[in-house]
Amino acid sequence: MMNAQLFERLIFECQKIIAENQEYLTELDAKIGDADHGNNLNRGFQAIADLSSELSKMTPSAALKKAGMTLVMKVGGASGPLYGSFLMGMAKHAKTDSITLGHLPAMFWGGIEDVQKRGKSEAGQKTMLDTLIPAAKQLEQEIEQGSIIGDIIENIMQAAGEGCESTKMMKALKGRASYLGERSIGHLDPGAMSSFLLIKAVCSSLDNKTK
Ligand code: ADP
Ligand code: MG
Repeated sequence: MMNAQLFERLIFECQKIIAENQEYLTELDAKIGDADHGNNLNRGFQAIADLSSELSKMTPSAALKKAGMTLVMKVGGASGPLYGSFLMGMAKHAKTDSITLGHLPAMFWGGIEDVQKRGKSEAGQKTMLDTLIPAAKQLEQEIEQGSIIGDIIENIMQAAGEGCESTKMMKALKGRASYLGERSIGHLDPGAMSSFLLIKAVCSSLDNKTK
């Protein structure tokens, strides 16, 4: 499943969705943070896109690690090290040169584990984890059930979307938004939204692949 062409498309789609939503993500961050989330991620994913042809020649593990390190280096703000940890956590569980669907749950959970370690955070605190964790649970369930790719994609997007939406009524307990306390309630978390968008981009790359 994982080949150089697909990897380049994954990078392209992620960079594209972040660029298209840069202002929106920054607007969300303006409400409960410091209005830089869109710019931060755009800088990071542009840097990854610049390395695209180099990354696509590496093993999946090495490429994920390098992409993660790129985010850590290029992105100011909490989200760079956190998304960087996510990719590097995935890298640790990308044990083969050819990644298949069956490998994805362990990789996804590996990424989440490293975000949680780095962020000292968990579900329900109004962060990217509130999108990532429901998506990982759904992915695991779909793979166990042996669902077809179309259903896997549809159901993961649904779970990620609901997780993202659920941050609206949460009180922020981590990161800058936590300084607002109760006043963070009523606003979507920017990182939960960027995670949803990135999952959407990955899903659409995989979807095209099967058409
Ligand atoms: P900063 O908060 O430093 O300005 P960004 O605006 O780029 O960085 O990213 C903010 C996002 O990072 C938040 O919306 C939230 O989803 C995520 N985040 C912040 N702190 C944590 C944490 N400890 N654990 C998980 N995610 C976090
Ligand atoms: Mg910010």
